[in-house]
Amino acid sequence: MQVTGTGFGEHFSAGTLLLRAGDLDEALSHFKAVYSSAEEAGAADLMAASLCEIAWTCFKMGDPEQGLECAIGAKWLWRRLGNAEEIARALAVEAFLFLDLGFGDEAFDLSGEALELAQSLDAPAILAFALNVRGVVLSVCQESELALSLLEQAVNLARVGGNTAAEAFYTLNLGFAHSKMAELAAKLGEDERRADQRALAIAQSTAAAGLAEAAGDLWTLRVALCNGAEFLSADGRNDEAISLLDRWTNVPGEASSSLHAHHLYTRGLVLFAVGQYRQAEMACRDALALAESAGQIDHQVNAALALSRILEAMGDTAAALGMHRLYHNLFVRQSGEAVRRRARVEEIRTEADRLRARAAELADQALSDPLTGIANRRSFDQILDRLAGNPLSVAIVDLDNFKLVNDRHTHIAGDAVLQRVARIMVDQIATHGHVARLGGEEFALIFPEAPLATAAAFCEGVRVAIGNADWDKLTPGMKVTVSIGVASGDGMRPTGELMQLADSRLYLAKSGGRDRVVAEEPLASRHAG
Ligand code: GH3
Ligand code: MG
Ligand code: MG
Repeated sequence: MQVTGTGFGEHFSAGTLLLRAGDLDEALSHFKAVYSSAEEAGAADLMAASLCEIAWTCFKMGDPEQGLECAIGAKWLWRRLGNAEEIARALAVEAFLFLDLGFGDEAFDLSGEALELAQSLDAPAILAFALNVRGVVLSVCQESELALSLLEQAVNLARVGGNTAAEAFYTLNLGFAHSKMAELAAKLGEDERRADQRALAIAQSTAAAGLAEAAGDLWTLRVALCNGAEFLSADGRNDEAISLLDRWTNVPGEASSSLHAHHLYTRGLVLFAVGQYRQAEMACRDALALAESAGQIDHQVNAALALSRILEAMGDTAAALGMHRLYHNLFVRQSGEAVRRRARVEEIRTEADRLRARAAELADQALSDPLTGIANRRSFDQILDRLAGNPLSVAIVDLDNFKLVNDRHTHIAGDAVLQRVARIMVDQIATHGHVARLGGEEFALIFPEAPLATAAAFCEGVRVAIGNADWDKLTPGMKVTVSIGVASGDGMRPTGELMQLADSRLYLAKSGGRDRVVAEEPLASRHAG
C-alpha cells in the first residue's frame, strides 16, 4: 500500500477506525503504509504518529516485540520534534509493551515517566492514558490501593471528556485491578474482602463490555467479556460466565489469534468447573493448537496445564501424565523465552538508536537550507512564531542583479556567492540575531528586542561587509551588493505584517538604486500616512 499526497490523513483515520473495530491486521497495514510514505517524504511527525499507532496495534495483537521497536522509535522522534504530549503517549505505550513482555521494572519506570510528564501538561486525554497505564503497572506490582485510585481517575477523565472508547478500556483495567486485589485477599485468607473485590471486578468488567459495545470497540469488548467470565467463574457463577463467553462468540468480525486462544482457554476452565469435561478438553485442545500456531508460549503453558488437570479429572491418568510432561517442557521453554526476550529487547534498543540518528538527521534537514547550511524558511517561520508578541526587528536581504551574476559567471559561481553571502551575514550578526535563507537569492534577518535604529545599523554593517568582500578572488571582475528593507515592531503588530513592511522597504531600496538599506518610508508617504 502506497500513500500519496493528501492520502495520509485518510489512511490514518482508516487505520484508527479499523483498530477500533478490532480489525488489527488491516489497521496495521494502513499504519505501515502511512509510515513508509511519511519516511519517503521525510515527514518526521507523521512517521512518529504512525509508529505509535503501529506499536499500539501490536500491543492489541499480542505482538509486544514488534510493538516495542515502534514505540521506542516513536518516542525518540517525538522527543526530537519536541512534542511533549506525544512523548507522554509513546512512553505509556512502551510501558504497556514492556509489561506484556514480562519486564515489570522497565514498565514501572516508563509508566512513572509518562505520568510525570502528562501531569505537567494541560492535556486531559493524555493524562488519563498515563494514569491508566500507571494503574495497570502498579496493580501487576500489587500496589493495589494506589492502582485503583489512578485507574478511577483515568475513568473519570475519559467520562468527562466524552471518550467512551477510552472509558471502556480504563474501566476494563479497573476491573482487572479489582481482580488482582481479590487474588491477594484470597492469599491472605481475607474472605470478605475477596468477595467484595471480586464483585467489583465483575461489575467493572460488565460495565466495560457495555461501554465498549457502545463505542464500537470490539477488542475491548472481547477482552472485557473474557475477563468477566473468568471472574464470574472464580466466584462459582459459571452459568453467567458461559453466557458472557457466548456473547463473545457473537461479537462480529474476526478476533486476533491471541484473543481467540484466551477465549477458548477461559471457556475450557469454565466448562471444567461445571463438570463438562469432554467439552472442556476440546476447548483447551483448540486453545493449545491455536497458541502453538501463533507461537504464543504463555497461552500454550496455561492451556497445557488446564488440559492435564481436565484429563486427570476424567480418569485418564496416562493422558494426563503425558499432558503434564508437555506442560513441563513448555514451562521450561517459557523460562528460556524470557532470556531470549531480554536479548531481543537489547537488539531492539540498538535498532531504535539507529532510528534515532536517522530522526535527528531528518529533523535537521527539515530546518536547514541545503545550499548554505543556514536556517531555511520553515525554521525562520518557527523562530518568528516563537518570538511573536515581543519587540523585534526583521530585515529582508536581496542580492542585487543576481540574474546578471549567474549569467556572467555561471550558476555554479552564483551558488558560491550565495554560500559566501550567508557566511558573511552569520559572521556579522549571529550574536545579535538570526539569519535564514527564505529562498532563491533572498535572505531574512531577525533581531530580537532591537529597535529600528539598531537593526538598521546592523543591516548597514551587513551591506558594507558584503559589498567590500573580496569577490574578485572568487571570480575576477565579480561584484556583489545587496539591498535591505528593515521593519520594527513592539510586539503588538503581527509578524506577518512586519515582514510585508520590510518587503515594501526592500522594494524602495531597489527602486532607489540598490546597494542600500531602507528602514523607513520616504518623507512624502510618511506625511501622507
Ligand atoms: P534585483 O536586483 O531586482 O533583485 O534583480 P535580480 O536579478 O537579483 O532578481 P531576479 O528576481 O530577477 O532574479 C533572481 C535570480 O536569482 C534568478 C535566479 O536565477 C537566481 N537564483 C535563485 N536561486 C538561485 C540559486 O539557488 N542559485 C543560483 N546560482 N541562482 C539562483
Ligand atoms: Mg535580487
Ligand atoms: Mg529576489
